[in-house]
Amino acid sequence: MYFLIFCLGLAIGSFLNVCIYRIPAQKSLIRPGSHCCHCEAPIRPYDNIPLVSFLILGGRCRRCRAKISIRYPAVELMTALLFVALFRAYGPSLQFLIYGPLMAALLVITLIDLNQYIIPDRITIPGALVGLLCSPLNAQLGSGVKGVFASLIGFFIGGILFFLIALLGSAVFKKESMGGGDIKLAAMLGTFLGWKGALFSFFLAFFSGALIGAIVLLVSSHRSNTRVPFGPFLALGAACYVFFGELILETYWGYVSGP
Ligand SMILES: [Zn+2]
Repeated sequence: MYFLIFCLGLAIGSFLNVCIYRIPAQKSLIRPGSHCCHCEAPIRPYDNIPLVSFLILGGRCRRCRAKISIRYPAVELMTALLFVALFRAYGPSLQFLIYGPLMAALLVITLIDLNQYIIPDRITIPGALVGLLCSPLNAQLGSGVKGVFASLIGFFIGGILFFLIALLGSAVFKKESMGGGDIKLAAMLGTFLGWKGALFSFFLAFFSGALIGAIVLLVSSHRSNTRVPFGPFLALGAACYVFFGELILETYWGYVSGP
């Protein structure tokens, strides 16, 4: 079973690569088919097996021998491992089917934001809709009508909180500190994870982002134009909530309320 999930993850990861490359470029996800970005030669189906083809071809195009970025197999492997971990945590359940697409979307957002400093609406707006539509089946949100309410509250708290932080940031720093993409991503997270999950993701993102940001500033040689995107940290926070959220919150409340 784990092997099947792993292979499914590899195949989905292969599609995510297409998303990461084409969504910021406003290109179609379906046409044209996969091709070498150096010589434009179409990639044959037998050369398009996730991970395996990259290893067989030694990371080079069969026709022009141009190097293929290590990012492709890395994304495939990461998706597969995420799916296996998710399956281990939630088993064959609706929750797995709800969190699977969320993880996939977060991975795509992370790589696009790292490369281009944008979080495309083409992911967050449909993502928020999917989160809302799944909410009656989302046991973590309480299922049924309760789930729908929790999802809506998460949407507004995630969105409004970020909107206020963005306003505050622009007022204090006199430049855009958090983009509209971050606001929409937080709202989308709220629809999947509820307000607790959205807040959890935000705090984790804020602290890990501040820490990494400080390190980047310290080691970077040209400080003034160094940018650290916030989206990847939000995605990391959300993933931590999906895998360890309950455990961490329980420990925290247990600690706060005493023995
Ligand atoms: Zn080529």
